[in-house]
Amino acid sequence: MDLTQVFGVNVFNDKLMKERLPKETYKALKKTIKMGLPLEPEVADVVANAMKDWALEKGATHYTHWFQPLTGSTAEKHDSFISPTEDGSIIMEFSGKQLIQGEPDASSFPSGGLRATFEARGYTAWDATSPAFIKEDADGNATLTIPTAFCSYTGEALDKKTPLLRSMAAVSKQALRVLRVLGNTTSKSVTATVGPEQEYFLVDKELYSERLDLITSGRTLFGAPAPKGQELEDHYFGSIKDRVSAFMKDLDTELWKMGITSKTKHNEVAPAQFEMAPIFATTNVATDHNQLVMETMKKVALRHNLVCLLHEKPYKGINGSGKHNNWSLATDDGQNLLEPGSTPHENLQFLLFLSALLKAVDVHADILRASAANSGNDHRLGANEAPPAIISIFMGDELTEILTKIEKGEPVTARGKTFLNVGVDTLPQLPKDNTDRNRTSPFAFTGNKFEFRMVGSSASIAGPNVTLNTIVSEALDEIATRLEKASDIKAETAAIIKDAVKNHARVIFNGNGYTEEWVKEAVKRGLPNTTSTVAALEAFITPKSIKLFEKYSVLSEKEMHSRYEIYLEQYSKHVNIEALTSIDMVKTQFIPAGIDLATELADSVNAVTAAGATAGVQKDLLKKVCALNDAIYAKLDALETAQAAAAAEGSVKKQAELYRDRVFPAMAALRDAVDGLETITPKYLWPIPTYSDLLFKL
Ligand code: ADP
Ligand code: MG
Repeated sequence: MDLTQVFGVNVFNDKLMKERLPKETYKALKKTIKMGLPLEPEVADVVANAMKDWALEKGATHYTHWFQPLTGSTAEKHDSFISPTEDGSIIMEFSGKQLIQGEPDASSFPSGGLRATFEARGYTAWDATSPAFIKEDADGNATLTIPTAFCSYTGEALDKKTPLLRSMAAVSKQALRVLRVLGNTTSKSVTATVGPEQEYFLVDKELYSERLDLITSGRTLFGAPAPKGQELEDHYFGSIKDRVSAFMKDLDTELWKMGITSKTKHNEVAPAQFEMAPIFATTNVATDHNQLVMETMKKVALRHNLVCLLHEKPYKGINGSGKHNNWSLATDDGQNLLEPGSTPHENLQFLLFLSALLKAVDVHADILRASAANSGNDHRLGANEAPPAIISIFMGDELTEILTKIEKGEPVTARGKTFLNVGVDTLPQLPKDNTDRNRTSPFAFTGNKFEFRMVGSSASIAGPNVTLNTIVSEALDEIATRLEKASDIKAETAAIIKDAVKNHARVIFNGNGYTEEWVKEAVKRGLPNTTSTVAALEAFITPKSIKLFEKYSVLSEKEMHSRYEIYLEQYSKHVNIEALTSIDMVKTQFIPAGIDLATELADSVNAVTAAGATAGVQKDLLKKVCALNDAIYAKLDALETAQAAAAAEGSVKKQAELYRDRVFPAMAALRDAVDGLETITPKYLWPIPTYSDLLFKL
């Protein structure tokens, strides 16, 4: 396979546009894309026609406006290109209007009250900054797929893409202001670059099919630990098994065809856990691609008789999965604004952008935390693996020392050399190999970018990046405003850096984030530690957040409220599904197994005693099994009561709290009893595959 021939074959990319569009159309399209303007109808018609011709050559019969509703997944409705003619035959048609705008009946997507049912229409609008592509299924059926944003009739965002695009515009504007004051006259835009590393588990499809919990919830709701976990540390970066390797190869090929730069693949820490990382791209393209990565992983896994689990915590007691969201800012002319430079000028710029991050993350830790909240992630954050639920920044010792010295007005030393500092025109050459060895930080500076590690593996990365872009917009806005007014830019820059360190250094933490000491220390520093989704989501509706998102025109108050409600409801729905699944499995699988076991033991006791022997083991086991059966029965009842109460609650917030405080613990207690039974039940009586089966039989 010649990779250069495969990569991007299914993308209507710039090269194709140049080849297939008349010069004038191409220029007009590029201009509107760059300036973010609406496309002229005549231009759109020509572009649509060229796209259709290309799609037909690729074997497509349908097109779809592909969008990202607030469910966190993607949505698509396929329309064929056919258009009847008078003589009873058909022609293939795709107009500019059909390219630019769609009108899906959107009444079944969550809107959080934004779209009254009498106005169920939603509008999809082409995001021309993310190229159209062909999506193929296993049989090679092709669909022309147009990445779109999804809004209500009155223009409110009903999706994750719209605020993302708005936040990109905001951060570009504010970053450019800072660059201009610093004398940059050439850069025309700044974009946030994102590289999401995606963790996932694979499980054998036959075994998966025997577990209702995996099918409905994506995680095991029961399961005693296997005798082996991840303690041997033999899986991380271990040699990849042939079956998995075959899956990864197919996955890569499918991703490459769609122009997704799948770059890195390896075994992860937990058994049967893996990671894939692409090369970073602009925020919206990275987000689109990550959605496609998740979808493609699931599809391709099935072709290999595997199931891909994207849940944050498929298995109790071993590592869960996250999505490391690598983030930086880059100018259109190729400068990474978080790259420490080699000249004092570059370093001044770097330290300013670093200061902006420092402030943004400290001031808006709550909303950043909320952006990574979902029911699955509650099993990770703060649960002694993954990052803690406390937002802190890892800067590395060297950079922290430099920042501290700048704040104190002390001379800065780096690489053994001393530099005068106060005037900032002799800032040292900053350490470039500031490699991050700290894997416990939720927000780590990794040399030329930040890595936000809280994001859950199943989540869309849109929300976290909307948040990052917006909070950084505010910090850059303030910096630009100060600099624009300053008569001495260098002195003001030094003052800005000093202020940022003075006021926000509390959020810097370079130690081990998994320790109890850090949790205590964070309390002393006044840093929030919000361990549940329900509490974290409150950050969406604080006056501080609403003011922020409104100011940068990213989300309106109404949109924030609708998101808050939808995410709370999603939390409740997920826990509810888990509760109902637990109840079902206990009633139809575990209680019968417990009864069978008790009967077998009782029969044995009778038979053995009748034969004149003592049956001590059977009697003892019988007692234990009956006690567990009783416990399971009682805990089942408790869970059913808690679930019924939560399901009947009318207030969205109270309901979510009931699911968290009553249903969730009841489920955990029931699980403990069932897992106890599992450990003394013979394999032939246990109704579902065990952890040993699921984790070690790939
Ligand atoms: P690690 O596992 O050590 O964190 P990986 O190579 O798996 O490293 O992932 C690093 C990710 O960061 C990749 O997706 C990479 O493209 C991305 N990345 C690198 N530079 C930038 C940048 N300037 N902006 C955003 N992401 C970046
Ligand atoms: Mg990483």
